[in-house]
Amino acid sequence: MAEIMDGKSLSLKILDDIKEKTALLKKRPGLSVILIGNNPASSIYVKNKEKQALNAGFNSIVYKLPETASKGELLSLINNLNNDEDIDGILLQLPLPKHLNPYDFLDKIDPKKDVDGFHPVNAGKLLLNENPYAVPCTPKGIIRLLDEYKIQIEGKNAVIIGRSNIVGKPLSMLLLNKNATVTIAHSKTKNLSEIAKNADILISATGCADMVTKDIVKEGAAVIDVGIIRDENGKLRGDVDFNNVKDIAGFITPVPGGVGPMTIAMLMENTYKLHLLRNGL
Ligand code: NAP
Repeated sequence: MAEIMDGKSLSLKILDDIKEKTALLKKRPGLSVILIGNNPASSIYVKNKEKQALNAGFNSIVYKLPETASKGELLSLINNLNNDEDIDGILLQLPLPKHLNPYDFLDKIDPKKDVDGFHPVNAGKLLLNENPYAVPCTPKGIIRLLDEYKIQIEGKNAVIIGRSNIVGKPLSMLLLNKNATVTIAHSKTKNLSEIAKNADILISATGCADMVTKDIVKEGAAVIDVGIIRDENGKLRGDVDFNNVKDIAGFITPVPGGVGPMTIAMLMENTYKLHLLRNGL
């Protein structure tokens, strides 16, 4: 029976620690979140980010733009936030409405305020293993969970299912920088089950229910479930067939309560760190 990796309680410890350290600062860290349109999932995520930022003692400002916002409006807002001395972190909530291409904007955010770590400078620094100003929150949270449960990364086979720019790719770099042997699988991968079965650390980030079933998991593996799926009853679940995989895995993250809360905690940690960096602390 696998040990459950409790992202919820680890995230609370991290958030408490940030709150304590923030109380000692002269100035509050400032996090700004830009939300465009009325995507219901994005609205919930942004509300939660705002709540956690306020709870940590940060200034939290949410900028809501209408679904019809133009490229010029968004660029002008980003420019203002780049020049705002009270803002340490700028987060552009994705996905954007169809008429806006995220890559027209993510590289306009000051890399030192790029709290999501999506700017090409930070992505490049991660690739080069050269201290990005910020590392993408979900991959960073996964590494923190692995560390907390003392799961060895060096020399281990890590398999990531999913190659998105926000999860799979940056996570592959973090694991490689920690000397894992990394395989990235995706929708065109052949023999996924054989590859997965070879994983000491198996991470699934696809958004497909039952992507990871018991028969493709190596006994004793650490199984990390990034997926967030709402089932037909409105209940949250992940990519992994949790109830069966837990009997064979060594460690497993639940959904909810695993990677999700760690992502938010890492966002707060990134904001705090960027504040220190910008203020020479
Ligand atoms: P994404 O951009 O849609 O990427 C999904 C990836 O999964 C793609 O690389 C895709 O392959 C791969 N994939 C899809 N079906 C597959 C299959 N049958 N076999 C193998 N690979 C397959 O998604 P994302 O933004 O990375 O998010 C993935 C999931 O994680 C979603 O459920 C999302 O809600 C969740 N998420 C959770 C958190 C958190 O904090 N817990 C954070 C971010 C995302 P191709 O590239 O070939 O299309």
